[in-house]
Amino acid sequence: MDEPKHLVIVGGGFAGLKLARSLNNHPAYRITLIDRHNYHQFQPLFYQVATASLEASSISFPLRKIFQKSRNVRIRIAELLTVEPGDNTIQTTSGPIRYDYLVLAMGADTNYFGNRDIQQYAFPMKSTVEAMALRNRIVENLEAAASAPDEATRQRHLNVVVVGGGPTGVELSGALAEMKRFILPKDYPELDLSKMHIYLVENSPNVLNAMSDAAHEKARAYLVKMGVEVTTGMAVKDYDGKNAILRDGTTIPTALVIWAAGVRGNVPAGLPSIAVTPQNRIRVDVKGRMVDSDNIYVLGDLAYQETGQFPKGMPQLANVAMAQAKFMADNFKRLSHGKAFEPFHFHFQGSMATVGRNKAVVDLESPRISFQGLFAWFVWMSVHLFLLMGFKNRLLVFVNWGYKYITFDNSLRLIYTRPPYPIQNEEEEGAAVPVEGAIAK
Ligand SMILES: Cc1cc2nc3c(=O)[nH]c(=O)nc-3n(C[C@H](O)[C@H](O)[C@H](O)COP(=O)(O)OP(=O)(O)OC[C@H]3O[C@@H](n4cnc5c(N)ncnc54)[C@H](O)[C@@H]3O)c2cc1C
Repeated sequence: MDEPKHLVIVGGGFAGLKLARSLNNHPAYRITLIDRHNYHQFQPLFYQVATASLEASSISFPLRKIFQKSRNVRIRIAELLTVEPGDNTIQTTSGPIRYDYLVLAMGADTNYFGNRDIQQYAFPMKSTVEAMALRNRIVENLEAAASAPDEATRQRHLNVVVVGGGPTGVELSGALAEMKRFILPKDYPELDLSKMHIYLVENSPNVLNAMSDAAHEKARAYLVKMGVEVTTGMAVKDYDGKNAILRDGTTIPTALVIWAAGVRGNVPAGLPSIAVTPQNRIRVDVKGRMVDSDNIYVLGDLAYQETGQFPKGMPQLANVAMAQAKFMADNFKRLSHGKAFEPFHFHFQGSMATVGRNKAVVDLESPRISFQGLFAWFVWMSVHLFLLMGFKNRLLVFVNWGYKYITFDNSLRLIYTRPPYPIQNEEEEGAAVPVEGAIAK
């Protein structure tokens, strides 16, 4: 029997994890799965962590636990720095690693489109830590509003601007509107919450613009009914931590801008420029192999693969990432029997988003139908529970949802701050100790 080939997978998200699990205990491969975090994160429910509905641990899963019994998968917690294709080596924060095959599945990060002020002051939501930082900020702002010295300061802390009307922005705005309606009046009797404004600003003509007309019209109607102030065909041009400036010059005083307006692929250094698209994704052929390479493959949000159905690249969705990974695992199994890789085929099943309690929109691809409302909401919940990793997590999320549905409450409105006393290292270095946000940006 030949020596197993070393397959290095970078990224333990939907794609990388699915690939490693599908090749678990396969005798032809010795697998190293690398991630900067020691847990898998379930991004579709970040907004519920940010709005105090779910604990971060319910949507995270330790990578080492998944492969406890594996004979061929080893975990390495490290950051990929550079790829050196000529030497079949990657450089990571824990040193160089040689590979026979490399699979890049590092997903995407927030795209600020080069605006440094927005990057500095707005809150993104592309990781569990960022979702928790956002939750801290939401609750801190409410406390600041409750003790504000004047009306202008109070108003600034009550205004929230969500930028980007894709699923993330829509889901967040809806969850904030439900907090405002069902929870905050009980928690903050001293605040006039009719003055709390949730603005959703979207550059394209519609919210959920990639979905059907029926879906984006219904989503907008839901949001407006819930009290979200929706502006489409408009962009947030700047934010200095105090005022959000829109493209038409409108200024919204706000202590919280949430940036959900775009993503860019986590492309590592060292790849040939021909392989990197202007949107910062890595160009792959029909088999998922990076252009200009023999043994580097790319999966998930990071991969840019044009197909007849998707001439601008496949959608950046969890089910696409997992389907690609499953297909690639089958190809690696074929390869171990001396057979060639086959082209990737994908059957797109549709898309969905939830807006709030009993409110969701679903577009199915075949049969091509759209539906909204309570049934769509059940479909959305079932699909997300099914996708979530681990029985315990599913149970926790299910129980939390049930509790929230019955009581109209969520119980996680805690502010985790750093202790207001100096931390030793910082004291030694004479650094100032921020009292706001343990997981501050
Ligand atoms: C808020 C939000 C809501 C979403 N909702 C939905 C939804 O409802 N339905 C849906 O289908 N999709 C949804 N998506 C999209 C979906 O989450 C992505 O399409 C999916 O996560 C892509 O999987 P991936 O494996 O390519 O990347 P990811 O799941 O992002 O995984 C990438 C992994 O790579 C690691 N990594 C990154 N860079 C490095 C590095 N340099 N070194 C080491 N490790 C690194 C990261 O830590 C991460 O674990 C949502 C995304 C977000 C942000």
